[in-house]
Amino acid sequence: MTAPSALPDRPTPQPGVRAIAAYVPGKSGAPGANSIKLSANESPLGASPKAIDAFRAAADHLEIYPEGSSRVLRMALAEVHGIDPNSVVCGNGSGDLLLLLAQCYLGEGDEAVMNRYGFSLYPIVTKAAGATIVMVDETDYTADVDALLAAVTERTRIVWLANPNNPTGTYLTSAQVRRLHAGLRKDILLVIDSAYAEYVTAADYSVGLDLVGKSDNVVMVRTFSKMGLAAARIGWMVGPAHVVDAVNRIRGPFNVNLPAQLAGAAAARDVAFTERLKAHNAQWRDWIAAELDTNHMRVVPSQANFVMVLFPDAEHATKAFQALWERGLIVREIGNSYGIPQGLRISIGTESAMRAVAEVLKDFQ
Ligand SMILES: *Cc1c(COP(=O)(O)O)cnc(C)c1O
Repeated sequence: MTAPSALPDRPTPQPGVRAIAAYVPGKSGAPGANSIKLSANESPLGASPKAIDAFRAAADHLEIYPEGSSRVLRMALAEVHGIDPNSVVCGNGSGDLLLLLAQCYLGEGDEAVMNRYGFSLYPIVTKAAGATIVMVDETDYTADVDALLAAVTERTRIVWLANPNNPTGTYLTSAQVRRLHAGLRKDILLVIDSAYAEYVTAADYSVGLDLVGKSDNVVMVRTFSKMGLAAARIGWMVGPAHVVDAVNRIRGPFNVNLPAQLAGAAAARDVAFTERLKAHNAQWRDWIAAELDTNHMRVVPSQANFVMVLFPDAEHATKAFQALWERGLIVREIGNSYGIPQGLRISIGTESAMRAVAEVLKDFQ
């Protein structure tokens, strides 16, 4: 008999789980009833009215399990994006899918590679699977293809790439992503997280579907969260049949609820609404960047629905955060979760929100 003291006196999570620093969401609820949340990259124009109607209609059927494969949503996505519905898996937000991909392809002793200022969920899902996250230096807040490739070892199983990236807003061109893929072994899964694809205006960008279509080791992950449906929790991924099969084996059998499936399908088809969001975003992203890019602040060029503003140091950034907070403008500090204490991430909001931000920050020393 082993000594009882050799066993812990309570249930203990796996070592990887204990190594995780929990995800920090954007703050909400600044002083004043009229505070404006610019900390989570949500839509300033609400959701597609057609998606809202579809969500409401689902209320008549809440006693019934949803169709488990999100068929109506996959069919809508297939129609709008010209893809095979069988190549799509839907998730309870795309975070759900990132977790499932990590569970499928990572285990103890494995490594996943990401750029240093990449999305903060990647280290969480990697460690949760028992694997090690390898952080790779960037060049001017942009993923560096050569550095990423140089970080690959025989233990590497996944490369995580948000394109455009959160929280920096920077992107890799289609040619750069293709070069990254070309440099990876065939057994390494390249996960292209195109969460902000709807907002990209750069002509040399590619969402990732081209690579998915012609390789066996690329998946593209998308979300409806940044285009008006964050509360509904709808994500989707497109990948080769063998990856789709693996993810389908371990996902929750009813992982996307009925209101989300119906709202997502309606939102996917409401291309006019998506275009309206994109046009609004492009206009005010350009405007706020021009307003704030002064001697005291640098706005990193963004292809997403937010901008990262860099201050001379962390103290300036904290003071700017405070000044905005006091005016009821809630932005995102990116010191703790992203290691950029001299930066703030500001979502593109309504015209009045953007004018208010500019007013506070322009005189800010
Ligand atoms: C917001 C975000 C996601 C996921 O959001 P969900 O709400 O879980 O769909 C995924 N990747 C990046 C880079 C994001 O910024």
